[in-house]
Amino acid sequence: MPEVVFSVDQSKSMRDQDVPGHNRWHPDIPNVAMVKPGAEFRMECRDWTDCQIGNNDTADDVRDIDLTIPHMLSGPIGVEGAEPGDLLVVDILDLGPVPQQTGDAAGQNWGYTGIFAKANGGGFLTDYYPDAYKAIWDFHGQQATSRHLPGIRFTGITHPGLFGTAPSSEMLAQWNTREQALIDADPNRVPPLALPPEGTNALAGTATGDLAARIAAEGARTVPARENGGNQDIKNFTRGSRVFFPVHVKDAKLSGGDLHFSQGDGEITFCGAIEMGGFIDFHVDLIKGGMEKYGISTNPVFIPGNVEPRYTEFLTFIGISVDHDTDTNYYLDATLAYRRACLNAVEYFKRFGYSGEQAYLLLGSAPVEGRISGIVDVPNACCSLYVPTAMFDFEIRPSAAGPATADRGQCALTTI
Ligand code: ZN
Repeated sequence: MPEVVFSVDQSKSMRDQDVPGHNRWHPDIPNVAMVKPGAEFRMECRDWTDCQIGNNDTADDVRDIDLTIPHMLSGPIGVEGAEPGDLLVVDILDLGPVPQQTGDAAGQNWGYTGIFAKANGGGFLTDYYPDAYKAIWDFHGQQATSRHLPGIRFTGITHPGLFGTAPSSEMLAQWNTREQALIDADPNRVPPLALPPEGTNALAGTATGDLAARIAAEGARTVPARENGGNQDIKNFTRGSRVFFPVHVKDAKLSGGDLHFSQGDGEITFCGAIEMGGFIDFHVDLIKGGMEKYGISTNPVFIPGNVEPRYTEFLTFIGISVDHDTDTNYYLDATLAYRRACLNAVEYFKRFGYSGEQAYLLLGSAPVEGRISGIVDVPNACCSLYVPTAMFDFEIRPSAAGPATADRGQCALTTI
């Protein structure tokens, strides 16, 4: 096992760890450890909410989640010799749930998928499913099953939802300015267009006093992907992947967390992955001056790993940029086209006895492939959603016999 450079006791909040992590992006959050180029090391992670979600059968905790707390990140880890303009080479050697532990913290042999309420976070289909729902998953080695989604078992593509380098202070100011301009376009929107810095519940690592207060006031929220990587939620960012992160500050300052046992492309319920705490092992190196050499200035590039489940057959749903509820045509809108593909899939799975919420949870968490299939054929963008047929323990393909309808239970709901 590589040396643990960031350790987590899963019985305690991230705030109460011997060395706490952080939940905002800021260049001045102090490094918690330094490693040399060529080093291999382990980071342990809390689940992204700092374990606000329980292994139970109500979705009240999802409905009432405090979104000023996530994402709880481990780090930053400094890399000796890293300077702005370099590329930080990060190999994901291994990752998984909390080893050899069962318990109340997500990642201790279980995980969860949540549909966030429209009034508190929202999601890709929030206009159709405005309330909170949840599914709990049990881990069986590489596979997951859920008492809230009977008849389904799949192999997870385990990956970190979120890893990145620290922004420079100029870049942080740019983020805050441009995101505020977006918020100003519709400041009262529910859910909001973006999230401005928020001092409440900000955690600034080992910073104290005035520095911690400044980080809380200025630090960027961790929800979106940005130029430092961040919450990219790329499900193929799995074991064996090599990521090339732009370096924006001295020491690079690598941080992350939000480990996922599995996720569908788009993570459509917002908390759509199977969320967990756990561990991740890295190898790091540097390409000096790599950003200029390769023209990589705004976002990372990466080489996916070779370890993925071998699903060979898919039932594929298609969507176009037409809002069928109002029969309105939109111009090459890939977001709408992907939403329609998801809605078409939900409608299909309802015929087999699943509720719409169960189907929505499944599309967020299972290893489904989302693709932009056509983006030039005016006026309709065309997106497709590939669902592995082998996940189901019954026949899912259409035939003259009709769908195998059964009582398939229900996911966790909110109480009144
Ligand atoms: Zn996540």
